Amino acid sequence: MPFYIDPHIHMVSRTTDDYKRMALAGCVLISEPAFWAGFDRSGPEGFRDYFRHLTEYERTRALAYGIEHRSWLCINAKEAENVSLARDVIALIPEFLDRRGVLGIGEIGLNKNTKNEATVFLEHLDLAAKTGELILVHTPHLADKYQGTRMILDMLKDDRRIPPERVCIDHVEEHTIRPALEAGHWVGMTLYPITKCTPARAADMIERYGTDRVLVNSAGDWGHSDPLAVPEFIFEMKRRGHDEASIRKIVYDNPLAFFRQSRRFSFDPAAASAEKAK
Ligand SMILES: [Zn+2]
Repeated sequence: MPFYIDPHIHMVSRTTDDYKRMALAGCVLISEPAFWAGFDRSGPEGFRDYFRHLTEYERTRALAYGIEHRSWLCINAKEAENVSLARDVIALIPEFLDRRGVLGIGEIGLNKNTKNEATVFLEHLDLAAKTGELILVHTPHLADKYQGTRMILDMLKDDRRIPPERVCIDHVEEHTIRPALEAGHWVGMTLYPITKCTPARAADMIERYGTDRVLVNSAGDWGHSDPLAVPEFIFEMKRRGHDEASIRKIVYDNPLAFFRQSRRFSFDPAAASAEKAK
């Protein structure tokens, strides 16, 4: 398996050694959603700096290891509980949307499934619909996941301006993958060492639901996570005797097909190495 893509990883909280290990393992492209920093920012200007970090510095840092970097912009569900802060941040996003490497709005979603989180989710959807952006959705953890996923699917269905195939529902598990796929969305399976889904559980879900509109990611961040989770998944799939073509579809062709719906997206592995060599 020569190449893979990690469509969800928070490299601002990882080291350059991780970039190197990912490059050695065959990673050629990543996408980095905006997320919670581990602490609440003091105001909207903190997000302006973060969006610059994602679209400028992190992109350069990835390219130094031959890895193309793309990003998603939003205010995450945890800080969205503060609706007035969230509105100030949403107002900042349009000035960054046409920056190089931006794929769309994300990872928006719900955390504790509150009314305020839902309000801010809907306002992000409105921005994405008006600007024609792709959407990446974070679904809540553990006990809140099923109800949160249902709420998210209902809100997406109610906004008829948003084609379902332009949305990826991330962190799906055994009890949420089917409704997300049936609604016509892409789904992301997050491979975490402890919570979320192991490579074996992800492979089980692939065997049950097939390879269409399915992505796998590490969601590596500042917590206990593994930036090499996608290669672990490839290893598990090979061990079970899956052929190269279907593994490649999940870890390479599918993320490219999803990203290619963004009008700004282009990707050429040869051009990436040429830019690196400059
Ligand atoms: Zn994330």
